[in-house]
Amino acid sequence: MLDFALKTSGTLLSPPGERAKLSILIYHRVLRQPDELFPLEVDAARFEAQMLAVRKLFHVLPLSEAVFRLKDGCLPARSACITFDDGYADNVEVAFPILQRLQIPATFFVADGFLDGGIMFNDRIMEMIRNIRIPLLDLTSLGMDRLPLTSLEQKRAAIAYLLSRLKYASLEKREEWLIEIERIAGTVPAAHLMMRSQQVRELFDAGMEIGGHTVNHPILASIDMASSESEILRNKERLEKITNHPVKLFAYPNGKPQTDYNAEHVALIEKLGFDAAVSTRPGVSYRHSDYFQLPRFTPWDLSPTRFSLRLLNNLRKPC
Ligand SMILES: [Zn+2]
Repeated sequence: MLDFALKTSGTLLSPPGERAKLSILIYHRVLRQPDELFPLEVDAARFEAQMLAVRKLFHVLPLSEAVFRLKDGCLPARSACITFDDGYADNVEVAFPILQRLQIPATFFVADGFLDGGIMFNDRIMEMIRNIRIPLLDLTSLGMDRLPLTSLEQKRAAIAYLLSRLKYASLEKREEWLIEIERIAGTVPAAHLMMRSQQVRELFDAGMEIGGHTVNHPILASIDMASSESEILRNKERLEKITNHPVKLFAYPNGKPQTDYNAEHVALIEKLGFDAAVSTRPGVSYRHSDYFQLPRFTPWDLSPTRFSLRLLNNLRKPC
């Protein structure tokens, strides 16, 4: 009864054809087990419950097909796409078997600079604080704070502090700081968090889509246009070599319009031959949306019903 009511209101809010709307969900990591440091992070059980809820309520399509059909005015009612950013190994090892079992297609946006043993700066910080053995991280020599680390709350606060200090630094400055912070912390960067090239190939061979996400995941708005173009093109070419297939979809690193990328990057993505791009602005796409800045939204609710209701509510958002 509840499913019927949800579907009915879903069809009213997201009808087929010319007035169709497209919900694009965004994921990053899918952990094997819940994480006590980040209890809200999606784990396998929660991901499966969310996918079951999505499959019950939506027609899940590959993003490239959904974009084509949205443009063409022939999208089914209640259409949705599943996307993953960055290229975490757990996407292949944990999420992919669930997607296959439920026959749900998905698109994986991969920053190829971290394939085969690399690690992104945010994970480097999180894993460092998780594995640290000292009760206080004194970073005053770097002009930063002294970070106490004796409780989970303090560890979370230390991670948030370090992320905010390093996020908008240049890649070179960030690397320099990270090496010094790791030296003080007495830790080494964690390995095996990201996919291997072969795993990207496995996803593609199984019918999943691979999209571009730059080589090194820079904030595009904080580097010059020549570097942006090189980051986007080299990533596209490497992923095309791995999959032996054109890469036509792109996700902006971090993805916040005007903050992480701007109109010049949007024009660049179109010029470089992509068909569509996604941001991290929450919302829903319409036929006349900007196909090079499609919004994405994933509810955070633990209960599948609340998760579904929030997805329905997202369909009320204006263009
Ligand atoms: Zn990303």
